[in-house]
Amino acid sequence: MLFRTAADDRPYHLGPFPLETLPRDEGVAGEESRSSPVENSAPQPQGVLGRAARIYRDLYASLAEGEPAAKRAPIPDDPARRAVDIKGYAYFMNASQVGICRDGDEYAVVVLVEAERVPEPGNPARGWVEPAVGEVIDMRAAEIAVCLARHIRQLGFPARAHVAGNGKLDCERLAVLAGLAVRDGTALKNPFIEGRFALAAVTTSYELPVDKPLAREALKAKGLRYWLGINGAMSGRERNRRAKRATHLSRYPMEQVKRVERPTTLVLDDEVPRVPKRASFFDRALRGDLGEKAQAERNRFAFKQPHTAGMMAPMRSMVPLQGGNPSPQKAFLGDAAANSRAIKSLSYFLGADLTGICEIPAYAWYSHGQDGQEIRPYHKYAVVMLIDQEYDTMEGASGDDWISGAQSMRGYLRGAEIAGVMAETIRGLGHPARSQTNVDSDVLHIPLLLLAGLGELSRIGELVLNPFVGPRFKSVVLTTNLPLEPDRPIDFGLQYFCSHCTKCARECPCDAIPWGGKIMFNGYEMWKPDVERCARYRLTNSKGSACGRCMKTCPLNKVVTADGPLLTRIASWCGVNAMWLKPLLVPIAVKLDDWIGNGKRNPAKKWWLDLEIVDGACVVPKGVNQRDLDLSHKIDPAKQNMAVYPASMMPVPNDNSPQAVDRKAALAALAMMESPLQAKERKARGGPKPLHYVPTPPKAGAEAGKKPELANYGGVR
Ligand code: SF4
Ligand code: SF4
Repeated sequence: MLFRTAADDRPYHLGPFPLETLPRDEGVAGEESRSSPVENSAPQPQGVLGRAARIYRDLYASLAEGEPAAKRAPIPDDPARRAVDIKGYAYFMNASQVGICRDGDEYAVVVLVEAERVPEPGNPARGWVEPAVGEVIDMRAAEIAVCLARHIRQLGFPARAHVAGNGKLDCERLAVLAGLAVRDGTALKNPFIEGRFALAAVTTSYELPVDKPLAREALKAKGLRYWLGINGAMSGRERNRRAKRATHLSRYPMEQVKRVERPTTLVLDDEVPRVPKRASFFDRALRGDLGEKAQAERNRFAFKQPHTAGMMAPMRSMVPLQGGNPSPQKAFLGDAAANSRAIKSLSYFLGADLTGICEIPAYAWYSHGQDGQEIRPYHKYAVVMLIDQEYDTMEGASGDDWISGAQSMRGYLRGAEIAGVMAETIRGLGHPARSQTNVDSDVLHIPLLLLAGLGELSRIGELVLNPFVGPRFKSVVLTTNLPLEPDRPIDFGLQYFCSHCTKCARECPCDAIPWGGKIMFNGYEMWKPDVERCARYRLTNSKGSACGRCMKTCPLNKVVTADGPLLTRIASWCGVNAMWLKPLLVPIAVKLDDWIGNGKRNPAKKWWLDLEIVDGACVVPKGVNQRDLDLSHKIDPAKQNMAVYPASMMPVPNDNSPQAVDRKAALAALAMMESPLQAKERKARGGPKPLHYVPTPPKAGAEAGKKPELANYGGVR
């Protein structure tokens, strides 16, 4: 209870609700076979949000069917182990409940998605959300079913997703047979969910163990054990706590965190250079700047593993929907404060975990796009949203094994969906808006995360850390001219914490995180990581896909809700509300975190099958990273070689041809960097900005390049 809870031992594939405790009745199957099937139809979408969600649901529906991979994956013979992977994946994608039943000769995996809360009366978002609840949860259920079907097809088995309006399959009957609902007259009731929910299903020949239908008494399931979360499922107490918070607030008490006028790390607004997209190391790898091996691996990076491969097609299909013209009929909205409340409530209704708002400084816009064209800033405000990468799966993983890439892609896909639907809604109300996603963004997310008050810069480097979800998130941004009220940056003492903690540096598999102090880089005070080394490791990791080990092992990667361990909740409260205690508590917290063993893998949370995709088919990978903690690893900061590529060493923004990195020069460049104190002193005496802050200019007269496309990887379509 102090350090651990029953949730730590709950097998992941059981999901957040204690379905396994419910009474079952096999006789229900006979009754169901006598009732006439209900067509899986969908009414016309209502309102501006309903129409936006329908566009995205249709996008998922278009990917419901396809050919399986040519070769079967080396999957376990035991259907129960297969079900751990299949149910685990659906829960990983945030299904509220999952069950399996027979559908004729096939198996049906049924997913149930609970609706989030409708905004309160007086909140402008209520008018958008109320008529669109069904449409939005249908979209969410479709997302999960389509990704799951694609995953099964990548394993080499036929699978089809059945989403609202796209088939004759009776999802209500399947939900009863799979033990997710009880028929009560014409209504379908769930033992734990009183509000609305949506259903979708995947039918497949992939053999899986089936669940039994629920007995009628299951509807009386909410006993003391449920309220206390005794069986490790989410407690009724935590569900109640969330339900009591205003809908424009996240589930975390961000309102308790100290607000400040400026980010807690120095940012020289007038000196930060605008940088081209071409300078991102993943982009550089794609164009060959990091050599042939990194280029080849970059092409298959997102298609290297079957859970990730399931998400890529929907994510890429969303890119053309990111922007567009606003409706000519401008709807009158409230003042900036009311608009901000409404936009935040909408983001939480759609599934964001934390949302903040800021004005966009010029330097947060990329200077040039992937096609080499200059980008001119076009919107005033950024709505910045965090998608939690999910604590439990991270607990089961080493951080750089075969699920790591899927954790990132899930965050990117969900973010693209949420921001895309929001942008479509705002445009439908007559205001300009564009979603800025991982696949296509004209803005840099990090400065916006700082300004929108969602976190502080951490030792991990170019990564913002939030007081409640730690570094465990992906971000997505929506830019708009809709008048909004910005939030302010936050200070929860992270600079002190990271100054006295080096766990991420110790646990990084390639020593890309600095052990020493902060420097000034392109106008930002930061612990500057060796981004090239990190990118190469993530791209060429042969015993896993990608890496997020620094996030996984950070002491601030925790559960701080009512279901988290008592000590974590107390420490989190003190970290936010009693910052004066930090000099006393931080050294203890850092030692205690290792002593408890935080950051080791938790086998109860390992649900996925370790598989690699090679030439379009799944194979057993050559190895699996199985790291726990490495307490003895230490590097003398003075001897740690770190390469930095300031603006002056970035590639020509409009030249597509390979521009090889000069690592030797980048290692030497570290000596040119000022300390934060030196930068302040220079500014005080009116000294000029360093020459290395000046970006490599575009090539005169060069034709705008073509945005590079990923090579065909040969997997499922
Ligand atoms: Fe190191 Fe992995 Fe974090 Fe990169 S992502 S800094 S390689 S731990
Ligand atoms: Fe900061 Fe420690 Fe987390 Fe690294 S592991 S980001 S040093 S708190």
